[in-house]
Amino acid sequence: MTICCINEEALDVVYAHCARATRGRTREEAALLYGLPCIDRGFNPFTWIWLAVPAVTTASATHVEIREESFLEAEERVASPEASVLGRRPILVGWAHSHPFDGPGSVFMSGTDRETMRLRFPRDHHVGLVLDPKSGHWGVFGWVDRQVAPVAARVVRDPDWKRHFWCAEVAP
Ligand SMILES: [Zn+2]
Repeated sequence: MTICCINEEALDVVYAHCARATRGRTREEAALLYGLPCIDRGFNPFTWIWLAVPAVTTASATHVEIREESFLEAEERVASPEASVLGRRPILVGWAHSHPFDGPGSVFMSGTDRETMRLRFPRDHHVGLVLDPKSGHWGVFGWVDRQVAPVAARVVRDPDWKRHFWCAEVAP
């Protein structure tokens, strides 16, 4: 998957959650990302994220691990009708975490992050978003030729974004 679209509201949730790192405690934070793998009119697959659920983590300034209960809690939350769009229930499409390192080049996938992708998010449509809450820089990584690589990310700001949902098709 080389393209990812994320709704502004979901990005805001990730940002607000990760910005906690800049308020007194410098530690990585994480969130689970929900949406659907889609196909656009040119038959290009892309991952659409419209919901972010802050995760409970075990973390330090340079390490973060999403606790098991977060996956279960998030699944319960997305089972509610409000989480669905036009009757489509979102599925887990990725994760987000912060790199509060306060320096250039803070948006990258570490060896541990790549291992997390391999173990937890191994499918084509799975993505990992990395955010530096201090600089505001962020980027999305996904599977390109079976390697974790940067992918193009677009923010969906259209308040009427649901009208674009014609493109959503769950990939095999
Ligand atoms: Zn990381």
